[in-house]
Amino acid sequence: MHRRNYGRRSGVLVDTCRDHGMWFDLGELDTILRWIKASDLKDAKQWEHRRQKRDQQVKEFLDDIDRRSERWRTTKRKV
Ligand SMILES: [Zn+2]
Repeated sequence: MHRRNYGRRSGVLVDTCRDHGMWFDLGELDTILRWIKASDLKDAKQWEHRRQKRDQQVKEFLDDIDRRSERWRTTKRKV
């Protein structure tokens, strides 16, 4: 049996045993579950941020196409 930092960064040192798995002291499981939930929330926020950034890039791309086609139509009319 040895102690290891659950999930490498949770800060909860759990006793692990090759034959029996993990052993939690009182409150450790709750702490780990809260840590997992907080990590998920952080991932979700990062994901949402990336999605918004991507949407913005798509919008700018489409706006650019609009501007170019407008310029093209304007140019064509003049010719
Ligand atoms: Zn054991």
